[in-house]
Amino acid sequence: MNDCIFCKIAAHELNAEIVYEDEEFLAFKDIKAVAPVHVLLIPKEHLGSLLDVEARQSDLVARLLLTAAKVARQLGVAEDGFRTVINTGDNGGQTVHHLHLHLMGGRFMNWPPG
Ligand code: AMP
Ligand code: ZN
Repeated sequence: MNDCIFCKIAAHELNAEIVYEDEEFLAFKDIKAVAPVHVLLIPKEHLGSLLDVEARQSDLVARLLLTAAKVARQLGVAEDGFRTVINTGDNGGQTVHHLHLHLMGGRFMNWPPG
């Protein structure tokens, strides 16, 4: 689909270090990791941001969060804890306009974020 880099990663047209994949979602390492574990979890379907998720897709959002927990366990960060973040729009710091959830762990996460 179009020029979306995450659609291309989902279609295996662009290389990424994939750590999890099922029919609906894909998780791959962030190229600019800010923590020992930093992966992006995306729906394979193109959704520009959280704002593009419609009410009828609430089950997709639920599965996204459940999958984040599953990937956190798989990557060994569940016990010590981890951070999940969805940046939306300019003030949210969103730079890639395909819905993605950051999953970060392996170190203490400060709050509030910068
Ligand atoms: P955001 O700022 O929330 O939109 O996050 C986009 C994230 O995608 C950033 O943390 C980037 O480092 C990451 N990123 C951009 N391009 C790629 C890529 N080709 N492979 C892996 N991560 C990427
Ligand atoms: Zn896309």
